[in-house]
Amino acid sequence: MVKILDIRNKVAPSKTTRKISQITKIARHHSATTNGDYFAFWNNRWKGLGWGKGGYHEIILTDGTVQLCYDPIYPTNGIGNHNTNTYHICVVGNGAFTAAQERAFEERCLLAIHNFGLSVDDVLGHNEFSGTATSCPGINMDSVRKRLKELNQPKKEVAGVTEQKLNADQEKVRQEAIKLGITDGKNPFREVNQYYVWNALLTIARELEELKKKVK
Ligand SMILES: [Zn+2]
Repeated sequence: MVKILDIRNKVAPSKTTRKISQITKIARHHSATTNGDYFAFWNNRWKGLGWGKGGYHEIILTDGTVQLCYDPIYPTNGIGNHNTNTYHICVVGNGAFTAAQERAFEERCLLAIHNFGLSVDDVLGHNEFSGTATSCPGINMDSVRKRLKELNQPKKEVAGVTEQKLNADQEKVRQEAIKLGITDGKNPFREVNQYYVWNALLTIARELEELKKKVK
């Protein structure tokens, strides 16, 4: 989990709102600076441009810490003519980013994809939006999307599709477990949650209790 700095009540407030369902794109930006954060960008750039609010919903600092700037219901000033339907994430740097920043971007971006019901193909670099002419986001977005897609794969076990086969010893265990009523023997490699394990163990523990009583 990345470290979050929640500055949502310290930023210049947005006067307009939107519905979450209006968000159809996630934009990646870079700051085109080697350093800085929301407050530096606001004081040195945005305020002077006469902006009423900041440019991004999230800003990923050089150490990978995420400044959470605006709730998604507030459009921010990331890309002219595209702000109503875009969630903006900025990575601080000028075409070069740290590994910590990339891990943070992956985590935050996948979370946004899930929260807004989008897909990896809805993640675009600033200069991939129509009508833009900029070097932002300073990274090859095809490689970014490739990474996101690899991370976004559902686990095979979860999807119920597995090529894995039981070896002879494992099969013996499975057969015995079926015989003793611990399992139906299906999906041997499926991940199970703690509750399932407790439930199975309780049955055995209760039988053991009964046995102990009888022995006494
Ligand atoms: Zn940008």
